[in-house]
Amino acid sequence: MAQAAIAARISPQPAETRPLTACLGQTLRQDVYAERDNPPFDRVCMDGVAIRSDTLSRGVRQYALEATQPAGAPALTLANATGAIEVMTGAMLPGGTDCVIPLEEYDLIEQTVSLKSNALGEPDRNVQRRGSDSRPGVPMLRTGTRLGAPEIAVVASAGLAAVTVSRQPRFMVVSTGDELIEPGQPILPHQVRRSNVYAVVAALTGQGFEEVRTDHLLDDEQMLRDRLARHLAQSDVLILSGGVSKGKFDFVPKVLKELGVEEVFYQVAQRPGMPMWFGVSTQGCAVFGLPGNPIATLVCLVRYVVPALIAAMGTRRALPVPIALAAPILRGRPMASFVPVSVQYDDQGRHLAQPHRPNGSGDFLALAGTDGFIELPPQATPYPAGFVATLYRW
Ligand code: AMP
Ligand code: MG
Repeated sequence: MAQAAIAARISPQPAETRPLTACLGQTLRQDVYAERDNPPFDRVCMDGVAIRSDTLSRGVRQYALEATQPAGAPALTLANATGAIEVMTGAMLPGGTDCVIPLEEYDLIEQTVSLKSNALGEPDRNVQRRGSDSRPGVPMLRTGTRLGAPEIAVVASAGLAAVTVSRQPRFMVVSTGDELIEPGQPILPHQVRRSNVYAVVAALTGQGFEEVRTDHLLDDEQMLRDRLARHLAQSDVLILSGGVSKGKFDFVPKVLKELGVEEVFYQVAQRPGMPMWFGVSTQGCAVFGLPGNPIATLVCLVRYVVPALIAAMGTRRALPVPIALAAPILRGRPMASFVPVSVQYDDQGRHLAQPHRPNGSGDFLALAGTDGFIELPPQATPYPAGFVATLYRW
């Protein structure tokens, strides 16, 4: 199976240290432990006054204000049982108090706090006790976590200015083909827009990959040999679009072999994307030769390249999800097939895949507006509505 063959040959990315400010979207390669108790002290979580709660049950309704306890200052201590200390959110709870009455529940006139009739005094009211969220040494984030905004906050709260993350792989995305013309350039009737590279770069950067460079090569053996040699030396992953079929000018597999790239597989029983090629260079560069048909390129990228690289990053991610067909697919397929779908929701909120039918693997206009594709296993009979397949999102 292609996926397993790729997984067996792609090495894990090495780890590197990054400053916290450069960690968004990166994959953690260490556990992150709580630096201290969290909260680190009995923390006031409302502006108000701190008192002893047992005084309320004894009928006390007025308290003499003793002092003010701001956030960021060491804890004061209550002097008298019927005293009160004004406290700010984030302050340490003053010693001798166990409850915070919020501003709205009392009047403060000339240093006397008079509770209103609705004031409640219970132990721990508006107090977060030290260590109630986490204890020191408890892992807060595990290796393999992808760092989003909340996780960045956790790293910062653990006191770390830098963490170990997976190093970004260096991608080189190469289109091949004499017919391809850059967007923005004049085009002739026999020429085709060079769209695949843009789709591939978008898919990779959309997944958080940062180091993605591109090149374009003609269907010329010498040019392919020279430039691919350089790309192999300077990249961790080489993605080629086009030139891998059996046509007279499809030189890619031959040139890769000449450059010492070991062929792991060539051709996969799937549609689209049958001519897909995969190999590994002597220096360990993973080489994906994706068929040039735009749908095939993108499907093969999302189905094989992206998951393999996410795994190489050590990222823990939700697996592709099962999804039921919203409408039947009327003919069986002799090999695994990828069908573009949009995801819909039924009245119970379950998601369903509505198939879109392209006019062949070149009709990539049909992809616009779809959410991804499903993989249908080969079978002789049709796939009824409700048939469960695997969903890959773009
Ligand atoms: P190939 O795999 O090189 O035989 O290409 C198959 C088809 O995909 C041909 O019609 C090519 O013109 C088209 N194609 C190849 N590369 C690209 C590309 N980068 N962008 C758009 N179409 C492409
Ligand atoms: Mg070509």
